[in-house]
Amino acid sequence: MAEHPSFDLAQHPHRRYNPLNGEWLLVSPHRALRPWQGQQEAPDTETRPAHDPTCYLCPGNVRANGAPNPDYTGTFVFDNDFAALRDDVPAGQLNQGGLLRAESESGVGRVICFSPRHDLTLPEMSPAAIRGVVDVWTDEYRTLGARPDIGYVQIFENKGAVMGCSNPHPHGQIWAQRTVPGEPAKESVQQLAYYQEHGRTLLTDYLAIELAEKTRLVLENEHWVALVPFWAGWPFETLLLPRRAVSDLTQLNEAEKDAFADALRRLTIHYDNLFQTSFPYSAGLHQQPTDGQAHPEWHLHMHFFPPLLRSATVRKFMVGYELLANAQRDITPEWAAERLRSQSEVHYKAVSVN
Ligand SMILES: [Zn+2]
Ligand SMILES: [Zn+2]
Repeated sequence: MAEHPSFDLAQHPHRRYNPLNGEWLLVSPHRALRPWQGQQEAPDTETRPAHDPTCYLCPGNVRANGAPNPDYTGTFVFDNDFAALRDDVPAGQLNQGGLLRAESESGVGRVICFSPRHDLTLPEMSPAAIRGVVDVWTDEYRTLGARPDIGYVQIFENKGAVMGCSNPHPHGQIWAQRTVPGEPAKESVQQLAYYQEHGRTLLTDYLAIELAEKTRLVLENEHWVALVPFWAGWPFETLLLPRRAVSDLTQLNEAEKDAFADALRRLTIHYDNLFQTSFPYSAGLHQQPTDGQAHPEWHLHMHFFPPLLRSATVRKFMVGYELLANAQRDITPEWAAERLRSQSEVHYKAVSVN
């Protein structure tokens, strides 16, 4: 009788469950057993000017609406001149037999410049400057979330032309709106069910498993941990989360905010060093809705969804099976975590400059 080998996550195709959103993904590790080519491209050492007179985000320059930016020295926040959301929308809805449904949506779009320096990105900024970004995120979440017409605040960054980011000046966005959008709404349902059953946040218990197993950890400090989640869909996807279960940024203490800045800086350095390029990604915070209720089931966290797969130019596309069925990956999250974890904490550009 043929002997059946025991199930091995590193070798056998399998499905993994994402408890945060309730969805599954397909992992096909046997397809990644071909040798790793590593990055074969020259390190990206492109330099930009510290100030670009044509950049609409640089200090002193004029934006599309004709308003000049102030000569800011830290962060700078303004209402997006081309926001997808507006707060002057009349209430209204449509419902034809439950099949054609629509309702008006209102909100605000804001842009946050992380630095006056056109030539920097988060991993190249000082810990103090990144702490300034954490502080402005916190202030914006608090202020926008306090508005009665805002039920959810989404803070995010699109980095890199491959992610559709049209301007390399370091900046992120905030879209704040009346309703809770799809992804955080799914996470609300999952986290609430877990909290009601166990009396602890889902991510508290998940983090305990990861800290014990260690195979998917990327880096940690006293208050934060970065890891490749067991259910990661993107090749080098990570989750950055605080050890203490807080529901939003305003509940972090000073030491936790400093540690968040430290973890952000180090994680993005690991990313840049992986393929010696300014690593593109979409990243963002998930926090409790701002509907005036307390949501102790919500555990603040930050997702990084980077598209790169094998080098600075070979990226993963979510197409075919992934559009029609569910997410799929070849390299395992454990393997990706090991690659990310083993990167130097000195930015590759700082090394090459000497
Ligand atoms: Zn600029
Ligand atoms: Zn999330």
